[in-house]
Amino acid sequence: MRLALDEARLAARGGDVPVGAVVLAPDGTTVLAAGHNEREATGDPTAHAEVLAIRRAAAALGEWRLSDCTLVVTLEPCTMCAGALVQSRVDRVVYGARDDKAGAAGSLWDVVRDRRLNHRPEVIEGVLAEDCARLLTDFFRAR
Ligand SMILES: [Zn+2]
Repeated sequence: MRLALDEARLAARGGDVPVGAVVLAPDGTTVLAAGHNEREATGDPTAHAEVLAIRRAAAALGEWRLSDCTLVVTLEPCTMCAGALVQSRVDRVVYGARDDKAGAAGSLWDVVRDRRLNHRPEVIEGVLAEDCARLLTDFFRAR
């Protein structure tokens, strides 16, 4: 999560909402890929931290299935990212701050653990939640 927080800070530097993500290899420690929000930087509406990290991890592995991998992200995933996480078959999703307005991993929706889907990653929330939330609060306060 500390690495994800570092990534989030990179996003804020480019004017993007500070959210960062890393994908850990099946061993749980090797970082396969990282990403931060790049919507403003790239003009791409789908350039969320999780999507970018998932794409890069798949490229690093040479296949789309991220079986046994863990995605760590500073903010609860939105519906798009939750969908991408299910599609990528990650084993575990770890997030920091909850997103009561748009969260899709327990807050507003729970797409990643929807029993109607055939793949449901384990979800661990609240890791360094205050640090993750403070980054966002500070960013929006400064705007
Ligand atoms: Zn998202």
